[in-house]
Amino acid sequence: MSHIETKAPSNFIRHIIDEDLKAGKNQGRVATRFPPEPNGYLHIGHAKSIVLNFGLARDYGGTCNLRFDDTNPHAENIEFVEAIQNDVRWLGYDWGNRLFYASDYFEKLHDYAVELIKKGLAYVDDLSAEQIREYRGTLTEPGRNSPHRSRTVEENLELFARMRAGDFNDGEKVLRAKIDMASPNINMRDPAIYRIRHGVIHHQTGEEWVIYPMYDFTHCLSDSLESITHSICTLEFEDHRPLYDWFLDQLDVPCHPQQIEFSRLNLEYTVMSKRKLTELVDQGHVEGWNDPRLPTIAGLRRRGYTPESIREFCHRIGVSKADNMVEMAMLEDCIRSDLNDRAPRRMAVLHPLKVTLTNYPDGKTEQLIASNHPQDETMGTREVTFSGDLYIDQSDFMEQAPKQFKRLVAGGEVRLRNAYVIKCDEVIKDGHGNIIELRCSYDPETLGKNPEGRKVKGVIHWVSASHALEAEVRLYDRLFSHPTPDAAREGKDYKDYINPDSLLTLTHCYLEQSLVDAQAGDRFQFEREGYFCLDPLHLPGNKPVFNRTVTLRDTWAKIANQ
Ligand code: ATP
Ligand code: MG
Repeated sequence: MSHIETKAPSNFIRHIIDEDLKAGKNQGRVATRFPPEPNGYLHIGHAKSIVLNFGLARDYGGTCNLRFDDTNPHAENIEFVEAIQNDVRWLGYDWGNRLFYASDYFEKLHDYAVELIKKGLAYVDDLSAEQIREYRGTLTEPGRNSPHRSRTVEENLELFARMRAGDFNDGEKVLRAKIDMASPNINMRDPAIYRIRHGVIHHQTGEEWVIYPMYDFTHCLSDSLESITHSICTLEFEDHRPLYDWFLDQLDVPCHPQQIEFSRLNLEYTVMSKRKLTELVDQGHVEGWNDPRLPTIAGLRRRGYTPESIREFCHRIGVSKADNMVEMAMLEDCIRSDLNDRAPRRMAVLHPLKVTLTNYPDGKTEQLIASNHPQDETMGTREVTFSGDLYIDQSDFMEQAPKQFKRLVAGGEVRLRNAYVIKCDEVIKDGHGNIIELRCSYDPETLGKNPEGRKVKGVIHWVSASHALEAEVRLYDRLFSHPTPDAAREGKDYKDYINPDSLLTLTHCYLEQSLVDAQAGDRFQFEREGYFCLDPLHLPGNKPVFNRTVTLRDTWAKIANQ
């Protein structure tokens, strides 16, 4: 229904694949994978990778595997495994029967490690983690060989078997690849490939293993075992590519996928590292992984984002090797244009001010017709109930106003959207001088037409007080008050930039009656207020909660200039 979605634009990775296909590489196959570690929920950065990998598979008639990179059971759990599948599906992608876990390959990975040992290309080291760091050298100094580097193959085989059997404590031994301690690339200085982890229960393999393979060893071999052709990852793995290739070159593997790196998505006014997101959730700075202020897919969904808008965003930002920072306005623009096309219009009063029409017959009501979309007739119309007791928004009235104020002023006129022109005759205040009610008169001749000879410029929204649906409305602002909260700054932590006003909860809002039929997750434009969705976690019978997805216009530009 939405017309905004474009076909995935071309990029350097597509060019590489086109060339590979022309050259007849991989027997013309294109096989990608999306390999999340289940140690948190997916975020909008992951969406970039998902849209890229699944998009390539779709456009080239290939396959895309969903593979859990689950080699670090300490931080991983089944909640994350399930949430990730849910989010990928919601984004619109289907891995069919191609769901894999790196842990599916633990036995094979173990055998590859044994193969390396037998080839004299891996050894068991007794150095502690700290000593290994010391021996590693620096960017300017070569590393030094471990005293255990020259162990015989037999000794290494026996020690590795005993590591597996649980004979050693955590950290007592590691298995390392034997590459080159003087390599200018630190990743090649005999990286660890297996470490000991006692006492953790892996969400897939339980207590079967006490040794766990390291990421770099696991990843290239998992890719190969799944016959991946193009292994796409983010730029920080560029320096790991020689290691990726080294393992595959040394071992007898089914195929040698090509690793290609692209730049990760960075988005202003938020953080994307899972460590930081975990911290925000665990320390209660937000209400959970699906808090609508987070850049998680679950948070964006709860906020009212559509999968189409997120895919469109991923297309607009493109894929390159250039590091960059994307403005929040770009993401918001995607959801705004999607919802502009498809969200039905409704009236909702967020800061209610009572209006009594003194000349409207007591007890009378009228059913007025309102169109659901100003540009799209196919979206039809609805009835809104008019009566003599209304609410308008407090911000639509000023007792004394500057000339440019086009709404209601004392003694002035304004048009009620889809209804009549009213005139404010009297302003009622409480003992503290607060305006609590307006007494107005309506002009029965003005339904759907302007009064003769009078100019009524302003149009405001309203609801009938006795017919309105009471609701809570949550207005979200950016979670951080700095565009790059996690950039390194002396003495500052990203949490120092948390915006204390990122959530404004309005508990007594009044919505037009038709919204009583809204279903959890339904999205609307509340005219003049923005786009809102009925909280996806809403349960029928409870007081409705509407989350503001986005304002009607870009408010970010203004913020940036403050
Ligand atoms: P973090 O560094 O926050 O822990 P990660 O990269 O380790 O994130 P993974 O679960 O390993 O998270 O990521 C799965 C895939 O998503 C990887 O291929 C990774 O490169 C990609 N990815 C993660 N973050 C981004 C991002 N910001 N932009 C683009 N791709 C990303
Ligand atoms: Mg990772």
